[in-house]
Amino acid sequence: MERWRTIIEPFRIKSVEPIRMTTEPERRRWLEAAGYNLFNLHADDVIVDLLTDSGTGAMSSEQWAGLQRGDESYAGSRSFYRFLEAVRDLFPFRHVIPTHQGRAAEKILFSVVAGAGKAIPNNNHFDTTRANIESTGAEAVDLVIAEGRRASTVHPFKGNVDLDALDAFIRERGPNNVPVVFVTVTNNSGGGQPVSLENLRGVREVCDRYGLPLFLDACRFAENAWFVRQREPGFETTPIPEIVRQMAALADGMTMSAKKDGLANIGGWLAMDDDGVAEQCRNLLILTEGFPTYGGLAGRDLDAIAQGLREVVDEDYLRYRIRSTAYLGEALERAGIPVVQPIGGHAVYIDARALLPHIPPLEYPGQALANALYVEGGIRGVEIGTVMFGRHPDGSETAAAMDLVRLAIPRRTYTQSHVDYVVEVVLGVAERAADLRGYRIVEEPPQLRHFTARFAPLS
Ligand SMILES: *Cc1c(COP(=O)(O)O)cnc(C)c1O
Repeated sequence: MERWRTIIEPFRIKSVEPIRMTTEPERRRWLEAAGYNLFNLHADDVIVDLLTDSGTGAMSSEQWAGLQRGDESYAGSRSFYRFLEAVRDLFPFRHVIPTHQGRAAEKILFSVVAGAGKAIPNNNHFDTTRANIESTGAEAVDLVIAEGRRASTVHPFKGNVDLDALDAFIRERGPNNVPVVFVTVTNNSGGGQPVSLENLRGVREVCDRYGLPLFLDACRFAENAWFVRQREPGFETTPIPEIVRQMAALADGMTMSAKKDGLANIGGWLAMDDDGVAEQCRNLLILTEGFPTYGGLAGRDLDAIAQGLREVVDEDYLRYRIRSTAYLGEALERAGIPVVQPIGGHAVYIDARALLPHIPPLEYPGQALANALYVEGGIRGVEIGTVMFGRHPDGSETAAAMDLVRLAIPRRTYTQSHVDYVVEVVLGVAERAADLRGYRIVEEPPQLRHFTARFAPLS
């Protein structure tokens, strides 16, 4: 065992992108002009941007070299075959269909297999997955274990599926009405929590009992594999690619956003073994995405993804990735900031309702905290709470289950000193938590209001 030392960023920096430093009075002005909604800011006016880890990471020098290698032939490009080989090396499905991002893979798959009267279970559906299922008239149902629904419960695999609930659900709805069972690894909507291989095997057994296909929403497959290696008995020395292949071997297909563990800025794919479904999916792909060997992407994007897939299963990368997320979470926790436990793979979630108990949910404590972090230090996180989930189709509004602020960590983008700065800013806001006030909404669209709503501060 090596002596304990700081886990350093396993890369050095060749190309830099300047961050413009700003002042608090400037940020107050910009926030007001943005209707107190951080989505409306110019990214240039943000110092540390933790809005999302999707497509916001840095590419490696080999990925940039891949952009030059990109073959832009319309059909059968070399880039496609490099992409195909890299995907199949980890996920050996018969059919691999590139798409411009994850939600396009979802849209195509659910257009083929879902529809009115159908129901699709998952540990937790990601919001685009749910929306694409519901837009076909089908129902999206969350069956994560009970531990996964409570912010403060510690469990090594909080993303696991409740197997009894899954079995009961399929019996109740009838297997004919469940076209596919999904498992999201890691479970993004549940806080980036992993799923164990044992649980995936259990899901496979339930699927086999009823003859149902199992698909992975595999956006963060490498982070999930790292957690399996760290936390699941018997995997301590198993190479990461091998753990990924074991996950893939339990499934019949997958949807993927290459903007996460593809380490790319754009892209995704849909993969499966079923010839008939794949043919229908390819036909839809041609309608909206493009020819099946590029699917809405440039050849150079396919090369960037192919290289990204080799780098994302690197142990040095994953050790640093997961450690740097935990580093932020643990520093906040040590300082007494309430955070969702345990720290997930790609983000830290601050419990705004617990930090700001004087702001009732319908005055949006998550929005208040996110905005205060921006004013205090130019940090952009995102409210995941009553603003995002509180408005219902019938027009009523209720408190969401939790009011959180998510600080998502882009891959290979910020250094430890950026993260130390984030901790200082959060602590600065926490010191004057009692002075923070809530908001009211002055303008909102009928759906997905968090993206475009405008707010006014309550005095
Ligand atoms: C990001 C994400 C998606 C959707 O992918 P996009 O590339 O953003 O369309 C689906 N599922 C999960 C779990 C995700 O994190």
